[in-house]
Amino acid sequence: MMAQNNPNPGYWQQHADYKMDVTMDVKTYLYKGKQTLVYTNNSPDTLKRVYFHLYNNAFQPNSPMDARLKAIKDPDGRMVTKVKVGDKEVKESRITALKPNEIGFLYVTNLKQDGITVTNKRVSTILEVDLAKPLLPKTSTTFSMDFDGQVPVQIRRSGRNNKEGIELSMAQWYPKMAEYDIDGWQADPYIAREFHGVWGNFDVNITIDKNYILGGTGYLQNGNQIGYNYEDEGVKVNIPKKQKTNTWHFIAPNVHDFTWAADKDYLHDKWVTKDGITLHFLYQNKPEFIQNWKNLQPKTAQLMEIYNNTVGKYPYKQYSVIQGGDGGMEYAMCTLILGEGSFDGLLGVTAHEMAHSWFQHVLATNEAKNSWMDEGFTTWLENYGLNEIAEKKVANPHEDSYKGYLALVKSGKEQSQATHADRYDENRPYSIQAYSKGNLFLTQLEYLIGEKNLLKIIKKYYTDYKFTHPTPTDIKHTAEKVSDANLDWFLTDWTQTTNTIDYGIKNVSEDGKNTKVTLERIGRTPMPLDIVVTYENGTSEGFYIPNTLMRYTKENPFPEINRTVLEGWDWAYPTFDFTINQEKGNIKSIQIDPSTIMADVNRDNNSYKK
Ligand SMILES: [Zn+2]
Repeated sequence: MMAQNNPNPGYWQQHADYKMDVTMDVKTYLYKGKQTLVYTNNSPDTLKRVYFHLYNNAFQPNSPMDARLKAIKDPDGRMVTKVKVGDKEVKESRITALKPNEIGFLYVTNLKQDGITVTNKRVSTILEVDLAKPLLPKTSTTFSMDFDGQVPVQIRRSGRNNKEGIELSMAQWYPKMAEYDIDGWQADPYIAREFHGVWGNFDVNITIDKNYILGGTGYLQNGNQIGYNYEDEGVKVNIPKKQKTNTWHFIAPNVHDFTWAADKDYLHDKWVTKDGITLHFLYQNKPEFIQNWKNLQPKTAQLMEIYNNTVGKYPYKQYSVIQGGDGGMEYAMCTLILGEGSFDGLLGVTAHEMAHSWFQHVLATNEAKNSWMDEGFTTWLENYGLNEIAEKKVANPHEDSYKGYLALVKSGKEQSQATHADRYDENRPYSIQAYSKGNLFLTQLEYLIGEKNLLKIIKKYYTDYKFTHPTPTDIKHTAEKVSDANLDWFLTDWTQTTNTIDYGIKNVSEDGKNTKVTLERIGRTPMPLDIVVTYENGTSEGFYIPNTLMRYTKENPFPEINRTVLEGWDWAYPTFDFTINQEKGNIKSIQIDPSTIMADVNRDNNSYKK
């Protein structure tokens, strides 16, 4: 167990070590397991109850996930079927239509705490457990239980027989202790969105028909008995004919989740990176997609190196890119992604999901409460990495995030990023605030304090908070420590409100031999301004107007242009005047933020042209 190094005084986090033995019946998709869980209460509180997630139960008619699917205006297209009713097209929940042998379930029996039977109540995807004896601060207790599961027909993320023919995508498949942290119990019903988990170690034995090939979280301990390219070089694996099953033994240290997938037709390739990390690729043996999966391998290694250099070293020994699931989803040490379609699509989703390894699986923010810190930062790293390995680099790899954010603002459906991920009115506003606006949190930091500082912040944030649960205050605090700028106003405006940035050039007038420029702040969010004036003679001059809330002067972002630092603009003043020591006739153009990094929601008023 690596020591947790969160610098917040008094920081604590719970700890859960799992030992599980599970047997999968590949004919009925039923599985049986035993779990022993050593749970350590590092909180200052005495716990009388604990909660387990039983995610599989979401895939049952009338579950909260089903209800949500039926009530939301823009349901996930993968989770509904379109049917014609009269001349109207209606979307029907696929969960409602599941038959008893197609639903998912996860039921716990024989639950004991230190050998004593405990009272528990299943409420859909949550198991409420009244402890037999209270769990005091700084003590551990051992839970033991049996569990019975049925793998649902693939609806979302986990499931059986998805449309690309993967038999078993086993995500959120076991009774999983809910996280108790500084914000209390995080025992949300599962409606197909984000996760938060307890750090710990996993020791998992999976017994399954010997023709199945597995990939997932952790390190396989008995590859030499199993084969399928998991054996050491030169080892000949001999499985006796009469042996019907293999037991795959995985160990996963210091993770907060354990996921696996299995299929009879997987091809399994390995690629060892320069840093000695083994990348596993498991994909269907379909001739038309094999070349894509081969081409993906060196690119994944390149991306891993860039991520290591940009954020910090990937701390595990393996990462597995596995065809499975639906769309793409990040898990500890692995991802389940769709494997068909274009090469660019395959590379893009791999770049995204692997980037989550840093921002969800090492920096484990509560992505249900602060989805922007996970999806947003992941999107930033994905865009940055893909641009680094692209043959043609672009000036701003985050362009799509700006477009998405702008569309969200215009739609009038934006809700603050402080909204719980499950609780947005619609899916699209949720996604855009998490991925696009979350990404722009970092690009706005770049605008506020410069690119060099942003890159330092990302490294320091990782070093300081890895293997813990950082919060919004932690990324802000890191940014303040690196830059010495005051940034609390920015965290508040950007993440807890729907305030927007909009500055404009209101007036340009002759003032004797000089020119007076009047700027106005139209949006609620105050920002510092970079302004570049271009003259008729072809030369340029820069002006910088600090935002007084920051008590900070940014390094000149255009070192080739001479810059004047003006007095600060206090947000309380709706307009700001400054003087250019040139006649108006000599000025060709005036531009607010020529970098276009500032997320101004109306750029039409950002320039003056003669
Ligand atoms: Zn993501």
